[in-house]
Amino acid sequence: MISIKDVRKVFPSKQGQLKAVDDVNLEIKEGEIFGVIGYSGAGKSTLIRMLNGLELPTEGSVTVAGRVISKIRGSELRKARQEISMIFQHFNLLWSRTVSENISFPLEIAGVGAAERQKRVNELIKLVGLEGRENAYPSQLSGGQKQRVGIARALANNPKVLLCDEATSALDPQTTDSILDLLVDINKRLGLTIVLITHEMHVIRKICHRVAVMESGRIVELGQVLDVFKNPQQQITKRFVQQVT
Ligand code: ATP
Ligand code: MG
Repeated sequence: MISIKDVRKVFPSKQGQLKAVDDVNLEIKEGEIFGVIGYSGAGKSTLIRMLNGLELPTEGSVTVAGRVISKIRGSELRKARQEISMIFQHFNLLWSRTVSENISFPLEIAGVGAAERQKRVNELIKLVGLEGRENAYPSQLSGGQKQRVGIARALANNPKVLLCDEATSALDPQTTDSILDLLVDINKRLGLTIVLITHEMHVIRKICHRVAVMESGRIVELGQVLDVFKNPQQQITKRFVQQVT
């Protein structure tokens, strides 16, 4: 479903060049919940942003759902992005729009008619458990509810892939668990491939099938979550595992 080949991303910096992502190779399967963990500055966001063309690799190629994302531009990229949705730490909702209007927004952009939009919004509201809050504004919602709106909006156009950049980092542990449960539910029900980045190992343990550990732009460890927990190889991985044991 996702294929990252020999990818490097270099940013110009005062010291010359900064390798944010350095020689990464990764295959993520359809229907998988794949976790990427690393400390701040490891390159996690840069990597995930290359999966939907928000960043272009300096070298290498990124293929998602049969499209070479790192090569396409313009309308082709916009079309591809309907299949590769993203949710964020700070939700990125439209504050002047209600819950329903936020969820409807990507459908409007995609040119879906009003009746069809309403039907789809109702389905999504149910899916994420926001019945009764349709007409609330984001400022009237809890953090967990805001992320439910973010998830519903991300699912509006029936994507194949959902990218989650620290999607639970602004939430308390209980709310985090409820959002993670929702992601598992969506993964099972819709067969959606999920790529999730975090710096919290309990998030990885709770929902991911496989995990990659990133350090200084590189993947330093990769494996099934159960194996990595049982037998971490790298020092950094051991530290992450100790967070939750
Ligand atoms: P965090 O956990 O803090 O979100 P991260 O693992 O997501 O960190 P990135 O945001 O991918 O890390 O950043 C990796 C490195 O690339 C950092 O050193 C960062 O300063 C640098 N970087 C990221 N984006 C840019 C940019 N647009 N221009 C220059 N440098 C950048
Ligand atoms: Mg980040």
